Amino acid sequence: MVCHYGTDLKEMVETVERYTHHGKVADYIPALSKANPTDVGIAIFDGHDTCFSEGQHRKLFTLQSISKILTLALALMDHGEEVVFSKVGMEPTGDPFNSIAKLESHIPSKPLNPMINAGALAVSSLIKGSSNEEKLDRLLQFVRELSGNQSITYNAEVAKSEFDTADLNRSLSYFMKQHGVINGDVDVLLDFYTKQCAIEVDCEDLAKIGFALAHHGEHPDKNYSIIPFEIARLVKTFMVTCGMYNASGEFAIRVGIPAKSGVSGGIVGAVPGGIGIGLYGPALDDKGNSIAGMKLLELLSAKYHLSIF
Ligand code: GLU
Repeated sequence: MVCHYGTDLKEMVETVERYTHHGKVADYIPALSKANPTDVGIAIFDGHDTCFSEGQHRKLFTLQSISKILTLALALMDHGEEVVFSKVGMEPTGDPFNSIAKLESHIPSKPLNPMINAGALAVSSLIKGSSNEEKLDRLLQFVRELSGNQSITYNAEVAKSEFDTADLNRSLSYFMKQHGVINGDVDVLLDFYTKQCAIEVDCEDLAKIGFALAHHGEHPDKNYSIIPFEIARLVKTFMVTCGMYNASGEFAIRVGIPAKSGVSGGIVGAVPGGIGIGLYGPALDDKGNSIAGMKLLELLSAKYHLSIF
């Protein structure tokens, strides 16, 4: 299969590489600070093969916040909308991803949406399983099925590094426990959450996950839905309204592709009915998004008219 997206990809990657010098690698999770700030990689999946990839597309990185769309899908598949949205809202917030402010001001302390840390922690607490091992196993199977890569696992060093330093996420969790949003042992939840965030992928895995979301949860090699149509729709809508932290509004205008980023520098994009995109560029802008990845998506969207708007 000859795919037309490849023609300009090399040039686009070269164009955005210079932006990496204006960004900064996340270091509040100490293990993430080891990333090479000048790395940039991209893969595009059109359902036939990974037809295009460029730069550091085979380098492994951790999902971090990208995992939030996957746990949201799984929690919705486990419990349905009524239960999940009794714990977390549907509204974007202009605050940073780890902000605690709205938890107190937004009565009854329900986190505003599942893409901020508080909301993601509440969602993670809903994943079914009798132990963290079982929950993580279910999540990993889900990620492996969506990406078609059976070797995906989590990076124990990154998970531990985050667990040891996750005092802000602990505070969010204790606050939510006090107000009945979550139950149980906070450190058990943090153990699961930091492992979910440390699931390791490359750009090609992400592009395939993006493709499955773009096609209502269907995997190209399988003739069944891994994610039910309605849940895939719902997840993509959250990606549009809150996927790029408090830069989601500008991103919708400049790029217009349902996407989710993580502080490791990964971004997954899902063009409804079209391609899946996986990006990596660990140098982040001041909102926590990959600086080169954002620029690359802007160029791609403009060139191939990928905006959904
Ligand atoms: N594990 C990170 C945290 O909870 C994820 C943040 C992100 O990627 O936005 O702080």
